[in-house]
This record gives sequence, structure tokens and C-alpha cells, in this order.
Amino acid sequence: MAHFTVIGLGRFGIAASMELIYLGHTVTGVDRDAKVAEKNVEDFTQLLICDSTDENALKELDLANSDAVLVAIGEDMESSLLCTLALKKLGVKEIWVKANSRAHHTIVSKLGVSRIIHPEEEMGVRVAQALNYPMVNDYLSIGHGLYVVEIHIKQPLDGCHLGELLGPSKGKVDAVMVKREQETFLQLDQDFEIKASDILLLSGTRDALKCLAPRLS
Ligand code: ATP
Repeated sequence: MAHFTVIGLGRFGIAASMELIYLGHTVTGVDRDAKVAEKNVEDFTQLLICDSTDENALKELDLANSDAVLVAIGEDMESSLLCTLALKKLGVKEIWVKANSRAHHTIVSKLGVSRIIHPEEEMGVRVAQALNYPMVNDYLSIGHGLYVVEIHIKQPLDGCHLGELLGPSKGKVDAVMVKREQETFLQLDQDFEIKASDILLLSGTRDALKCLAPRLS
């Protein structure tokens, strides 16, 4: 269990906070608008109503005990930047910032934060990927052009062996894991029999996974 601080409780900040709480973490929420904050008061470990650009107000927070601070102020770029600067001055190491524009991104990147998030762009790419490959439930970029994709196996592939499924992609795409209800299977060989409703994790380059996609639908 970790502790996080989320500054800015708009739709994005609230969604991130609620998911962190659901995942078993504790969250301190910060917003300057008492009305926004009041709505969600019971779920947060601590709730602070303050202007997060005020360094002294931020000192009220137990930032030393936060594993990361998420600055989820998008629209008001000045607030986001001043808040990020104040967090840096207070010595916070892990700062994630939501950026709404290219200019916002450019300036935040100069401040040396751990990660800059572009929710609309990132979600847009994910939605396009989902529309393009409906069989891919989720995917993760792991760098160097490699991806891990999560496939939900449909009825037509029930009983198919892994070697058969991968076909000409063998050697280019690796089967990482199969999850079947509560069970997980690792170190899969070519004879492993896939069942409908299995969740299959595959890794490979984008091109290799793209070539395999028609066999999975
Ligand atoms: P959404 O997540 O709803 O898309 P957004 O990107 O439009 O939000 P904003 O509306 O700028 O982002 O801010 C989100 C929240 O941050 C709001 O609830 C707002 O009250 C809060 N906020 C903005 N500036 C500050 C500040 N200086 N200090 C504390 N909270 C702030």
C-alpha cells in the first residue's frame, strides 16, 4: 500500500484518486474549491482546501510521506506550473503532472518532473487502437518498440494450440502468460491448448503484433 497526494480534484483528479483508493492505496486530496472537495470527503485520508500555488499551504500536507504527487490541474496552466515549482522547492521527488497543451508540456518538462500525462491524447490513441483491433483488450508499451498486448480469446479459437495460433509469427511474438479464471500459466510451449475466455498476454514489436492480429479475431 502506498500513499499519494492528488492536487486538483476535477474529473481527472477524482477518477485517479478513486482508482488509487480502489487499488488499496491512501490518497490525500487537494483543491482550492471547497464545493468540489466536499463531494468526495469520505474517501480521502485527508482533504485540504487551499491554493496549491501557495508553498506555505503545501507545507500543511504530509508530502514526505507521499510516494508520489499528482498535479491534476489542467486548464489553469499558471496554477499547475506554480504548484509544480512549489513541490520541487519542497523537495518532492516523484511528481506527475497533467498537461493540457504542448506549451504546458514544454514548460513542465523544464521543471524536471517524473512524468507528464496527456489524458486526451493518450485516451485518443487507446480508443483508436481498440477500434482498430477490437480483440486487443489492453496494451502496454515497454520501450524499444516492444508492446505487451492483452487478448481475450473468443470461441472460434477454443482448443487451438499456441503454435497454431502464432503461426508464422512464431519467434517474432512471444506468449508471456495465459490467465484462465483464477489460474495463471507461464513458460508456455507450442502445444499449450488455448480455451475460449482465456486471457492471453503476447509481446512483440508493433509490426509483428499487427501481422498476427487477423489470426486472433
Ligand atoms: P478535468 O479533470 O475536469 O478535465 P481540467 O483539466 O479542466 O479538469 P481544471 O479545471 O483546471 O482542470 O482543474 C481541476 C481542479 O483543480 C478543479 O477542481 C480546480 O478547482 C482545481 N484547481 C485549479 N487551480 C487550483 C489551485 N491553484 N489550487 C488548488 N486547486 C486548484
